[in-house]
Amino acid sequence: MQITSIHIKQVKRLAKQLESAYPSLKLGQRLDKAAAQHLGVRDYHEAHCLYDKWVMLHVHPSEDADRVSKCAYCEFSFAPDIKEDLQLHRNIHEQFHEACVSLSYKPGNYVQRERMKRDGREKANDGESIEDRIEGLLLLLRGWFDRSLADAIHGKYWRKHPTFEAYVSMIQDTLGDSYRDLQGILKERYGYLPGEMEPGNSYWFPNRC
Ligand SMILES: [Zn+2]
Repeated sequence: MQITSIHIKQVKRLAKQLESAYPSLKLGQRLDKAAAQHLGVRDYHEAHCLYDKWVMLHVHPSEDADRVSKCAYCEFSFAPDIKEDLQLHRNIHEQFHEACVSLSYKPGNYVQRERMKRDGREKANDGESIEDRIEGLLLLLRGWFDRSLADAIHGKYWRKHPTFEAYVSMIQDTLGDSYRDLQGILKERYGYLPGEMEPGNSYWFPNRC
């Protein structure tokens, strides 16, 4: 079972609620009870061990001498043998996860985004039909969108970040002269909102709006 920061917060909340029903129990005992009740684990310690495992699940140790590891989920790079770095990663990982849950969407990581951009460009250039080429262009834009949204999550302004559909309507001027023949179709389908993003930039920033 995967225990995330959201589960741990729910257990803590439940432990607090159990106070009135079990006034004689100490906080630790209530946490054990809440963890067993809510997550079906033996006790709070087990829940926390599983949570620790989740935080490090996507961390791949580096083979370089600098011993910097990167988390493929939240994309934070850190030295896992430094306590402060571990704590910093934990905070960023939680924040990233909770934003993704709230958005019901997880932006692709670096490797996935690069693949989207490469495959998207290829299809937008060489697709057999216009629809194929549109699909390719949207895939390329999805790669840009995911990078912009991931930055917004780390910058804590993700709540204001446009949806993909809105982003497509704002990004037209960044495409410049590329895919001119497809841009008209995108404008028809997604609308055209110039001025929301700096032309030439694929990142959305809240201070421009
Ligand atoms: Zn992480």
